[in-house]
Amino acid sequence: MQDLLQKLQIAAGPTDDQSAWPAAQFGLLAEAGVLRWVIPTEYGGLAYSERDLLQGYIELSSACLTTTFVLTQRNGACQRLANSTNTELKAELLPALAQGQLFATVGISHLTTSRQHWRQPAVQVTETDSGWCFDGEIPWVTGAEYADYLVTGGTLSDGRQVLAAIPRREAGVTVAPAARLLSLSASATSPVRLDNVILDRKFLVAGPVEQVMRLGAGSTGALATSALATGLARAALDHLQTEAAQRGDLLPIYQPLQQEWTTLRDDLLLATDRERVAGNLGLSTEAIRGRANSLVLRATQALLAASKGAGFVCGHFAERAVREALFFLVWSCPQPVVAAALRELAGLATC
Ligand SMILES: Cc1cc2nc3c(=O)[nH]c(=O)nc-3n(C[C@H](O)[C@H](O)[C@H](O)COP(=O)(O)OP(=O)(O)OC[C@H]3O[C@@H](n4cnc5c(N)ncnc54)[C@H](O)[C@@H]3O)c2cc1C
Repeated sequence: MQDLLQKLQIAAGPTDDQSAWPAAQFGLLAEAGVLRWVIPTEYGGLAYSERDLLQGYIELSSACLTTTFVLTQRNGACQRLANSTNTELKAELLPALAQGQLFATVGISHLTTSRQHWRQPAVQVTETDSGWCFDGEIPWVTGAEYADYLVTGGTLSDGRQVLAAIPRREAGVTVAPAARLLSLSASATSPVRLDNVILDRKFLVAGPVEQVMRLGAGSTGALATSALATGLARAALDHLQTEAAQRGDLLPIYQPLQQEWTTLRDDLLLATDRERVAGNLGLSTEAIRGRANSLVLRATQALLAASKGAGFVCGHFAERAVREALFFLVWSCPQPVVAAALRELAGLATC
């Protein structure tokens, strides 16, 4: 793992600078067995526990947030497939995904956090004799142009939803050019249009059912976002510690942040033990996310302030880390998380 982390860390700056899709990094992840983490053992995976997975995400994101973020989207697709009752589809896709021979990603935000105020569903689905027809736009798909399969969903006229693995080369699928972003442009994130995409039943992952995203795999995603924020905060604090080693005045700044980080990491891992933490509101996924967001923003900005003007120059780690930390204000934020962030920014007490 140390060798992998070092290589990811070295490549992280140029990847961001050139907005370059992390293909080589995914080769390294495959070699190190990381692509097997969320795949069940019967399909050639390692079936990591949620706790081990989060621990792995913290380490990887402390080395390269872009690679780890893309990995979470790919893992999201694998986890949805692994939870599916469609055994034929699983047998066809999961072994190749475990080996890194196929790449899949998710486009599910329009079923959870994106475009929820729209009157019409972003993607509409109608039933056909052989399966389903998809129409609409998936607003956000990371790595879409590099994907073999898009795990995505849509809504039927009666409100029920389906989730399917749509082959990216299927007729009617159009990937828009990747967006230029404040950070993480290398993640090749873009909207995907679905125009009359006729899909056979064999590609069905889940549904039709109301609120298809509530079926399994929900909570892992929620804690994973916090794990990535925790990992980036770790990297910022490591840099701050290096500065503090030469400048004693920074120690009283570094120490409380470091303590807060350790408590957050411990609570994040503890939160995977659902029975033990049931009823403890401080360890709910939303509370942990609020703390992780707050810490990553403060830790990266403390590093920038300590790095002074030198840290403001492109290519300095502080400059990239500050931009990357802002991603957590918008990525996969359910309403209570947005509300907590806004209250903190407004200087109001967080509840
Ligand atoms: C870099 C990046 C990569 C991502 N990758 C993926 C991915 O791979 N897969 C995936 O599924 N998701 C992905 N997401 C989506 C992400 O998880 C969130 O769903 C997304 O950031 C939500 O933002 P939105 O602009 O779509 O939200 P929306 O809620 O659609 O807001 C868009 C705009 O609508 C207006 N608006 C919002 N709420 C209201 C309201 N109540 N009333 C009136 N107007 C309103 C505001 O003007 C707002 O700017 C990604 C996001 C980013 C930024």
